[in-house]
Amino acid sequence: MAEHESLEFGKADFVLLDNVSLEEFLANLKLRFEKGRIYSYIGEVVVSVNPYRAMNIYGRDTIEQYKGRELYERPPHLFAIADAAYKAMKRRNKDTCIVISGESGAGKTEASKYIMQYIAAITNPSQRAEVERVKNMLLKSNCVLEAFGNAKTNRNDNSSRFGKYMDINFDFKGDPIGGHINNYLLEKVGRVVHLVKGAPESLLRSLHIQKDPTAYSYIKVGGHIKSSINDSADFKAVADAMKVIGFTTEEIHTVYKILATILHLGNLKFGNDGDVTLIENSKLVAVLGELLSTKEENVEKALLYRTVATGRDVIDKQHTDQEASYGRDALAKAIYERLFCWIVGRINDIIEVKNYDARIHGKNTVIGVLDIYGFEIFQNNSFEQFCINYCNEKLQQLFIQLVLKQEQEEYQREGIPWKHIDYFNNQIIVDLVELQHKGIFSVLDEACMNVGKVTDEMFLQALNSKLAKHAHYTSRKLSPTDKSLEFDRDFRIRHYAGDVKVTALSNPVLKAMWPEGKLSITEVTKRPLTAATLFKNSMISLVENLASKEPYYVRCIKPNDVKSPLLFEYERCKHQVEYLGLLENVRVRRAGFANRQTYPRFLQRYKMISEFTWPNHDLPSDREAVKRLLQGCGFEHDVAYGKTKVFIRTPRTIFSLEEQRAEM
Ligand code: ATP
Ligand code: MG
Repeated sequence: MAEHESLEFGKADFVLLDNVSLEEFLANLKLRFEKGRIYSYIGEVVVSVNPYRAMNIYGRDTIEQYKGRELYERPPHLFAIADAAYKAMKRRNKDTCIVISGESGAGKTEASKYIMQYIAAITNPSQRAEVERVKNMLLKSNCVLEAFGNAKTNRNDNSSRFGKYMDINFDFKGDPIGGHINNYLLEKVGRVVHLVKGAPESLLRSLHIQKDPTAYSYIKVGGHIKSSINDSADFKAVADAMKVIGFTTEEIHTVYKILATILHLGNLKFGNDGDVTLIENSKLVAVLGELLSTKEENVEKALLYRTVATGRDVIDKQHTDQEASYGRDALAKAIYERLFCWIVGRINDIIEVKNYDARIHGKNTVIGVLDIYGFEIFQNNSFEQFCINYCNEKLQQLFIQLVLKQEQEEYQREGIPWKHIDYFNNQIIVDLVELQHKGIFSVLDEACMNVGKVTDEMFLQALNSKLAKHAHYTSRKLSPTDKSLEFDRDFRIRHYAGDVKVTALSNPVLKAMWPEGKLSITEVTKRPLTAATLFKNSMISLVENLASKEPYYVRCIKPNDVKSPLLFEYERCKHQVEYLGLLENVRVRRAGFANRQTYPRFLQRYKMISEFTWPNHDLPSDREAVKRLLQGCGFEHDVAYGKTKVFIRTPRTIFSLEEQRAEM
């Protein structure tokens, strides 16, 4: 419960609501938003509403106010949770993580940057040069990743088209000594537009790129030409950041060449001359050859043919012009994806902790920050949205397990009376997607293995036959007049966040044309991993990794769809509060206890404040001693005694114990 805030701003912690109802929750959220209080708590979870305006709450003075304080001592803020994660790591030698979730445009990436800035600001008090260097690189790496991984979408001008998980490693003093970045699924060709609008003329000439972005079809498709951002300053900032991180001049130039290649690829047109598919703009083939340092005929071959194995023979089969166009786009995308992964890999090489000797330096601990795309429900949802939404189901599952389920189970284990809380467990949807042999990913995989033989209809039929009875899957129209689903093409998943229609068409085929990893001909019969399986595996290991750390949560809410600082769209917010499970979160928190500690630990920390326990107690058990101590302080009404732990209901009690301890 945050102190120092008047009630005119509403309740700083939703746990304090008079009634836990959706209406009251939203009324409080709205009031706080309108009063410029964009952060609130549910216990230790930060709820954030995107202000869509510059807030004067991230400066040095604010940082000082949060540094080393307890969560409930100050008004809700990202800095408080960053500090809590940092303290937990430092004091208890624990790996922690901060999971930032919410839909596109809700403010996740901004939040992750403030958190990083806070951590950078409070560490390295002795100004060690090496630590400063590491911090600088960690911050700069963000800039580079954003430049390549973000794009303007209709929901967010600076939308992250990749999920990012960043580990920051700390030494025994609590100073950053390195980091590691994992990225998940790059959806679109990001901001290639920078290259065109921001780069110096001479560079553009050498890449055969025109200054006019409308000349490039990939940029037009993205629809992000009118970026309000200062492109040439941005271009320079990114180039500088790459230099600081340690990219060589040659590497940076190669990156430009690859970006140019992608732009040129997008302008290739295919036609046919009777039986033969042709590239219409042959000049571009020459340019591509030059940029890729290869012969023109290799470029042509790569774009017009595919290699297939028939029995014992390996032959080159010509694409139709439509196949060639698909292939071109898939190639451009694959190149972009690999470029991005390569950049991430180079950054990792440089920021990874080297020469850390635990015997000398003590344990190296980690804070992870996860900023990942939120739920996406579009008119047309493809494979990418399917993956993104699956990822959010996984994260919700983790949240449920950690916050709701573990909490309930612990009370049961400890023999503390507990009223069961009903919540929607989304495991069933996670299973729908990822179950071996039965889930959508498995069916998709099989379809990909049989390219050429499996049509989209067959893929859909396979899904139907396996999943028809599943409560969260349907490919049937909701009514005879329902136009939202097209027969034989679409299916619908009932996500916890709402229904999402997914179009089955073309993706399996496309994906299989460009399977991940090099598929050499002798290995044709072996199974390559499909993009779907790779993504599923990376999600599973991400969740395992998060589950091994002590989690802190930031739940971001987008107040409206027009980027307005004034508008609180009730229905939009209500929907988000529902699917983020915030009300359940409040219920569990209220039924529960803010703090719990084993008896010996509690005594170790507070025994000096009671005559019964200082310096040692002579009671039959630590449990009895803790009881005695708390009775003496008058906190009897606020605690419960479990088998091994004492449970304290309100943070205020802890606060008061801490104060008494400090006075000793
Ligand atoms: P996506 O999933 O598409 O990447 P996101 O959740 O990462 O979306 P952000 O890019 O963080 O969203 O935020 C979108 C925009 O909202 C920002 O570019 C900024 O204009 C505004 N915004 C978000 N958070 C804040 C904040 N704390 N203060 C001021 N403006 C903010
Ligand atoms: Mg983002």
